[in-house]
Amino acid sequence: MTLPRDRRVSQRLAAIAESATLKVDAKAKALKAEGRPVIGFGAGEPDFPTPDYVVAAAVAAAQDPKNHRYTPAGGLPELKAAIVAKTLRDWKLDDSGFELTPANVLVTNGGKQAVYNTFAALLDPGDEVILPAPYWTTYPECIQLAGGKAVDVFADETQDYKVTVDQLDAALTERTKVLLFVSPSNPTGAVYTADEIRAIGAWAVEKGLWVVTDEIYEHLLYDGVETGSILSLVPELADQAVILNGVAKTYAMTGWRVGWMIGPADIVKAATNLQSHATSNVANVSQRAAIAALEGGLSAVDAMREAFDRRRKTIVTMLNEIDGVLCPTPQGAFYAYPSVKGLIERVGLGSSAELAEHILEKAEVAVVPGEAFGSPGYLRLSYALGDDDLVEGITRLQKLFAS
Ligand code: PMP
Repeated sequence: MTLPRDRRVSQRLAAIAESATLKVDAKAKALKAEGRPVIGFGAGEPDFPTPDYVVAAAVAAAQDPKNHRYTPAGGLPELKAAIVAKTLRDWKLDDSGFELTPANVLVTNGGKQAVYNTFAALLDPGDEVILPAPYWTTYPECIQLAGGKAVDVFADETQDYKVTVDQLDAALTERTKVLLFVSPSNPTGAVYTADEIRAIGAWAVEKGLWVVTDEIYEHLLYDGVETGSILSLVPELADQAVILNGVAKTYAMTGWRVGWMIGPADIVKAATNLQSHATSNVANVSQRAAIAALEGGLSAVDAMREAFDRRRKTIVTMLNEIDGVLCPTPQGAFYAYPSVKGLIERVGLGSSAELAEHILEKAEVAVVPGEAFGSPGYLRLSYALGDDDLVEGITRLQKLFAS
């Protein structure tokens, strides 16, 4: 006899949706495996291999029996030290006396676990998190899992997908505990200027809010945009901010699963306790690889950035040539986020989700619909794929939607 529904999956998990971006990617890969010539714009990962010196460090680590054991749950001390050094370097705080020690760092299984741990450590049931939309699909689910409530604040293409202090202020209630801040953004590629960040940071200080800032795309910036970490621009936030980061995007290391969170010692300790029961440490060999990545400089990401920049210009130009598509020029990350409201109407479909399905079926091109990011009427296209595939994929869209 099958047990009734209310005695099966918990309500907490039944309310969580599968990651839409991973779903699109899995579908595209499955069709490809069947021999269909699918071009995938779905995945949020660089198409480059991990740099050789990182792989070599991992091979050496795998051969050393000392790395066949657990590490402390919170991460290898050497990796925490490398994260502290990297953070001080990138925030340009080396000589500022800014306090950052290994007690402020937790090494996580990818940036994703840092998101989960952070909201678990910060939220009580009913606490509200102001969530600028379009947002990365994982945030609202992690907020909800922690018992919190995500309060969306939407910024469309006419404001370059960037929220204003006035909009944030309008969303504030007595229950607001956290502002989530992401720049460069997934899915829009929007980058806040230093002045915009200062204004938002000062507002958070004034309102006594926590700021959770996701800096995983920090090194993928274009057009010489003037920006920086909210912590270096508004150091008063030091005791009420958590920074999320990882090696995935900067060093083409999505598969290695190394991320981290940085925050006040009590929050980091609480998150470390959770992780010690949930997953223990990140794979020891991956941690050794991450040390090599962080200590190896930024030349690999410089080379990737050049390729992404070229593809960014191509994809934005080609998308804007399609009648009904409006694609602002992103200044960071590796995503284009066009509005397709005009196109949906022109081809007589009901939604961007239907449009994405239509595109996969008819053009064998995988894109992620805006529904996954809290904003129907848009598509996300990652341009972290080869130049030829990129041109071929968008040419297929141009042909499919030729007026
Ligand atoms: N933050 C953002 C904004 C992301 O786009 C991603 C990856 N899609 C992550 C965090 C997590 O990356 P990972 O878990 O692979 O380190």
